[in-house]
Amino acid sequence: MTTGHLRLMAVHAHPDDEASKGAAMMARYAAEGHRVLVVTATGGERGDVLNPKLKGIDSVEANLSELRKDEMAAAAEALGIEHVWLGFVDSGLPEGDPLPPLPVGSFALEPEDVVVGALVKQIRLFRPHVMTCYDENGGYPHPDHIRSHEIAIAAFLAAADPARFPEAGPAWSVQKIYYDVSFSGGRIRAVHDALVERGLESPFGDWVKARTEREETWTGRPRRATARVQVAEHFPQRDAALRAHATQIDPDGFFFAAPRELEAEVWPVEEFEIALARVEIADAVEDDLFAGVVADGLPGNAPIVHRGADFAGEAGESRAVGTGHGSSDRVPR
Ligand SMILES: [Zn+2]
Repeated sequence: MTTGHLRLMAVHAHPDDEASKGAAMMARYAAEGHRVLVVTATGGERGDVLNPKLKGIDSVEANLSELRKDEMAAAAEALGIEHVWLGFVDSGLPEGDPLPPLPVGSFALEPEDVVVGALVKQIRLFRPHVMTCYDENGGYPHPDHIRSHEIAIAAFLAAADPARFPEAGPAWSVQKIYYDVSFSGGRIRAVHDALVERGLESPFGDWVKARTEREETWTGRPRRATARVQVAEHFPQRDAALRAHATQIDPDGFFFAAPRELEAEVWPVEEFEIALARVEIADAVEDDLFAGVVADGLPGNAPIVHRGADFAGEAGESRAVGTGHGSSDRVPR
């Protein structure tokens, strides 16, 4: 275990994503004295009110953007972390057949240099040792999630290079970037199986069935957790952060359906998958995202010495040296 004064940056698409992906990990590192910064790409302006108790209330619907700022501040406080907005506009989740075009001016349509430059600036200001982001499928096929993945990888690469975005501050070599895979099927399955074993009713039966069917036809690369961080002690903070996003999360819904004591017993971890690293990564599953980092930082433009499964093989080679990559050939899960 590492203690104190390292820095971790988590890149998220919308306010509330940080509460459902890696929240307990962030609360743990903050509690151990490290600095944790969430960078939220958009204001979540195109989200809907998803909590049935707040739906259809005029004062809520009309002030959603403002409310979401307050909710984000309350969530950051619950986790004990720092927060910054990147300032882009939510692209919304396009629905229909054919899909409608994305709204003009939205995050997913902003020029690459603008969005990558904005994140490079935050990286060079905060100087994180470690970053987390979504995997190449966005973890969820929302255009802002896929875009967040792309800019996180591109900015991880560019921030280290003094020739890129010189106006954004002195180069900084982030040492590792992980994909958040904590929202995996494993956790829901483990809780479901434990409930069934105890002869209790599981709220996740349909979910597990649908997920299993989807996995049988899944053609993408398998996901593999390369780090499992013990975080059960911080589940109450994660729950407080989820509840802070009151317009977005139903306190009687999916996120709260797992009995908390059981969850802490059968799935006390959050999981991450290494994407790229400038320090060596152990072969064994890591239990600390800061494992092996150099506290004083690496020299500028330190080389990539480890590439995760997403960057393995031919396709990965070209992706890892580029400054971003398309996702149109990706299969959402
Ligand atoms: Zn989101």
